[in-house]
Amino acid sequence: MVSRLEEASNGHLELKDVCEARMPRKRNPQLIMYDVPVIEGDRDAEEATFLRYSNSFPDSWDIRVLFKRPGRGPFKHWILSVPQEAFNLLKGSSWAFYGFGSLKFREFSEPLRCYKCLKFGHLRVNCSVPKELCSRCTGEHSHMECTATTVACRICKEYNRRSGTGPKVKTDHSAMPARCPIFVREKVELGRHTNYGLKKCVRH
Ligand SMILES: [Zn+2]
Ligand SMILES: [Zn+2]
Ligand SMILES: [Zn+2]
Repeated sequence: MVSRLEEASNGHLELKDVCEARMPRKRNPQLIMYDVPVIEGDRDAEEATFLRYSNSFPDSWDIRVLFKRPGRGPFKHWILSVPQEAFNLLKGSSWAFYGFGSLKFREFSEPLRCYKCLKFGHLRVNCSVPKELCSRCTGEHSHMECTATTVACRICKEYNRRSGTGPKVKTDHSAMPARCPIFVREKVELGRHTNYGLKKCVRH
């Protein structure tokens, strides 16, 4: 149905120049690769290439280092975007070849999140709030300065406020992952919008 709409809209003479209909794009699976050694004169493209050759992945596969997190000592954890073919080949193992050695990895399925205001869908660099917001209570201070005696999740409070007379979620937890139902929901959504190939395809 969606592809028929896409064809019809793109073929329509008046609509064609105004807008282009596209199928919703799914994100490629992501991996976190732990404690990757630093290559001299490294560049992200070269690093991804090294990983590609180490695992005999074809050149046509789009493997990209999205960002890095500090790892053990001088090492870095890499967050990579890989095509579903690579993901399915690596699946079932927790080690990938890297040069003459191997590196531990797992699937990375953390929703995009801002650690300044704690909302989902953007990063700190794009945040519009002026001050760091607390993850333990709903106050306008860093969690390091928090003196609240009971925890309250600002994300779930906001959700309840917006839902009006609709269903409510519990708010007696910190806004950090694992216990927050909104975080769990975001994670499930992320899975639904990830292209795992045919086997793990979710029917709507
Ligand atoms: Zn933010
Ligand atoms: Zn607080
Ligand atoms: Zn919550």
